[in-house]
Amino acid sequence: MGCVIARSGVIVAQVFVVFWFDCEDFVTPESDDALKRLAEILRSNGVRGVFKLVGEKLRSLERRGRWDVIEALKNHEIGFHTNYHSVHPTVAEYLKDMGLEEGMLEFEKREGSGVKDIERVFGVKPSCYGQPGGAWAPQVYPALKKMGIPVYLDATEFIDLDGRPFWYCGVLNILSLRGSKGGVISLNFELGTPGFIEKAMREFDEVYTRIVEGGEWGIISVYNHPCTLVTTEFWDAVNFSKGKNTPFDAVKKPKLKPRNWVEAGYRDFEAFVKHAKSKPHVRFVTAMDLYRIFMDEALDRVFSIDEVTRLASDLKTISFKKVDELYVSASEVFWLVTAALADYRVHGVLPSKVRNMQPLGPYRSVNSERLVAVKLNELLDAACRARSFIETNGRIPDYVEVAGLKVNPADFLASEAKALLKLHRGEVPERVELVRAVFEPSKYVSSRGAKGSWRWIVFPDGFEAWNLVEVARLQTWTLKPAEPSPVSL
Ligand SMILES: [Zn+2]
Repeated sequence: MGCVIARSGVIVAQVFVVFWFDCEDFVTPESDDALKRLAEILRSNGVRGVFKLVGEKLRSLERRGRWDVIEALKNHEIGFHTNYHSVHPTVAEYLKDMGLEEGMLEFEKREGSGVKDIERVFGVKPSCYGQPGGAWAPQVYPALKKMGIPVYLDATEFIDLDGRPFWYCGVLNILSLRGSKGGVISLNFELGTPGFIEKAMREFDEVYTRIVEGGEWGIISVYNHPCTLVTTEFWDAVNFSKGKNTPFDAVKKPKLKPRNWVEAGYRDFEAFVKHAKSKPHVRFVTAMDLYRIFMDEALDRVFSIDEVTRLASDLKTISFKKVDELYVSASEVFWLVTAALADYRVHGVLPSKVRNMQPLGPYRSVNSERLVAVKLNELLDAACRARSFIETNGRIPDYVEVAGLKVNPADFLASEAKALLKLHRGEVPERVELVRAVFEPSKYVSSRGAKGSWRWIVFPDGFEAWNLVEVARLQTWTLKPAEPSPVSL
């Protein structure tokens, strides 16, 4: 799956190329032109880009009467890049100590008007979101889901599934891309300097070749900050670094590039676009295209009891799994196994099939009290309670009470799995052993990646937010690789 077989029978790789732009500098009027020029260059080359707008940037375009810029952007896809970007408190600063639900509401409250402004001006919902600088935070995900923003398009090392695109909290993530699955190329301040674009093209060719040689598919994510075409330093480094806010009426403009450098930058950018266009396996895509291509086929799918049983085999280690060429997250496995056992408790037989659900992960991490042998019915009763908890709350419970003992969801799932395998074989044990499981997906949230993010110049010196790591790890129950559906290739 994932490759295209040409008529000749030869396997042909697909190289998806997405151009995205973080449009955030609301203090430098000269940077407005950069949005327009880049949008026009793409358009004249028949490429749709993704322009991720900061709410305040969009409002400043309106205040400055730049309808020409707004018109030029309408030929492209619009994404969201927060309401005020680097103005303190930034996303990670205000979400720092919050849980998933509280943080989700806070994000909506603070950022929602930026999304509304995009809808008001462009008549569309943003297709994607990406964090300012190093301000990645997990609470953003359920908020995006609620706001109807289906894709997270950015670069971060905070969370990374082996350099592939992945699903997390029901949102498609195009972040770190590596190996045969792609790469991320940055075109920023250096555009227009001698030798840079040749180097960027070589980088493109290297990633391209890796993908083609892999024989399947991959994504080249090319990003730019339009302001860097006209300035030599970041607008926010000048006004909002180290945790300090400059009042809006006192902001300083970053240093501007001389005219000839600016023009050389546009020429370089266009040369790069044409270079990408010249490659036979390239398919230009937007965030929404990627969402359609990578559509999650496990969503709402009905799984046969044989498939559920296969998912339940070998659950001492809990992680995402593959069944019939389809990835299923740990939280989906939890749902499918739990729902099958709850059904058994009610009807005395296993159901022939189970409709999938995608619950969020638990909110808190709890240690199991004691793992002992319990009566089968005690486990099945617990499965019934866990099922209705998920149906009511849309997430996995922090713990499940089995025979009066608190059992964490990973241990509970491993114990359920053993019982399901027996019942499926026609055995009805009187007692079942509660067992300990290893929960693996949390390793994809990297402490080192998080620390790297926190070195963003806009954060106060020594900024750390370990609660974000904790909350993010709990939600790796929802993590799984994303793959293109065969029909879309
Ligand atoms: Zn940004």
